[in-house]
Amino acid sequence: MKRLVIVGAGTGGLMVANFVARDLSREIAHGEISVTLLGDKDEYIYQPGFLYVVFDLMRPAQLIRPIKELLAPGIEFVHDRAVRIDPEGKVVERAGGEALHYDYLVLATGSGLNLQEVPGLSEGGHWFYTLEGALQLRDELRRFQGGRVVLTVGVPHKCPVAPLEFTMMFDEWARVRGIREQTEIVYTYPLGRTHSIPSVAEWAQPELEHRGVRVETFFNMESVEPEKKVVHSLEGTDVAYDVLVAIPPHRGDELGAVSGLAEAGNWYPTDRNRLNLNGRDDIFVLGDATNLPVSKAGSVAHFEAEVLADNLVGLLTEGSPPAYQYNGRAFCFIETGLERATFISFDYLNPPKVPQPTNAVHWFKQTYNRIHWANLKAVM
Ligand SMILES: Cc1cc2nc3c(=O)[nH]c(=O)nc-3n(C[C@H](O)[C@H](O)[C@H](O)COP(=O)(O)OP(=O)(O)OC[C@H]3O[C@@H](n4cnc5c(N)ncnc54)[C@H](O)[C@@H]3O)c2cc1C
Repeated sequence: MKRLVIVGAGTGGLMVANFVARDLSREIAHGEISVTLLGDKDEYIYQPGFLYVVFDLMRPAQLIRPIKELLAPGIEFVHDRAVRIDPEGKVVERAGGEALHYDYLVLATGSGLNLQEVPGLSEGGHWFYTLEGALQLRDELRRFQGGRVVLTVGVPHKCPVAPLEFTMMFDEWARVRGIREQTEIVYTYPLGRTHSIPSVAEWAQPELEHRGVRVETFFNMESVEPEKKVVHSLEGTDVAYDVLVAIPPHRGDELGAVSGLAEAGNWYPTDRNRLNLNGRDDIFVLGDATNLPVSKAGSVAHFEAEVLADNLVGLLTEGSPPAYQYNGRAFCFIETGLERATFISFDYLNPPKVPQPTNAVHWFKQTYNRIHWANLKAVM
């Protein structure tokens, strides 16, 4: 029997497991192939929904589903944490049970917040990158009657357009509530422009100006003084705030570092086309956990999962070398307020263009928020 083990039951891990299990349902039923998904949580949370929770546009219950409800038939789900990988013995050690042996291993462990990197941030800042954080920010905004709201961005971070989306949604939210005149919005960014992607920055600069948002570039968040309500940058600038909304810097799960397989930041060195861990032909990586020069986004995990699943099916059934290649494809909706949105679509070779925001794209995103589950289950 050939054994596929996937670590991480988030967007990328679930999609790979489901694509493979649907393609190989007969082989799994005959006991020729096994697909095991190891995840440290037994519920899946749809993270893009956090942005809507902040503005009371979605309820937390709409974002959460038990993993068991999202699995194609034939997948064995193990609710546990992977604590070490032995690549020579082809074994994944678990925190609370017997080790799992594999022929092929997929690492889909995502990325998490590195709050310790910015002293004072935990005490002085808000963020919408976890459900708890989004709920706290939502409560803060429910009480908010005006003042200075400062947005700061740590690097690297997932969903690269989220800082712009929050700023534009907040601007319109404050207008609708009739408190925009009492509210100053400051958008800071670590680079010398408003976004890491040049065409997005070119589009965003006048959009922010038009909304009366103050922009501070070259602002790398260094520390926060909660008592004084000031955020300091590495560049030596200070910005006072009433509400600080931070995108904390991210890092990969420690599994990679503990196993000696990851590099700085706990990111896995990954082949940009075949998605194998560099130097290994039996370990693959996808989603936020890679070191690839692509956005850390659910859409990227999805496009990678399709390629990886096709290659894994070939490997598991015929032992054929990976033929399908990932081309850096990414797609991101950008909410530009409460009723309009645009999007960017790009790959390794083709940078994005930003079309005019429309109401239709906003509703497309709203629809996607509700049908994401079908995507995860690999039924569409
Ligand atoms: C506020 C916000 C808005 C976003 N908006 C968008 C958007 O509009 N569009 C978009 O495409 N993307 C968006 N994203 C990004 C998207 O959610 C992530 O990029 C995507 O979920 C990455 O998928 P992944 O499988 O790599 O990681 P995840 O989905 O995070 O899954 C990783 C899983 O692995 C588990 N895990 C980690 N380590 C271990 C271990 N050692 N053992 C067992 N399990 C482990 C984790 O608990 C987690 O369940 C947004 C994210 C946020 C926070």
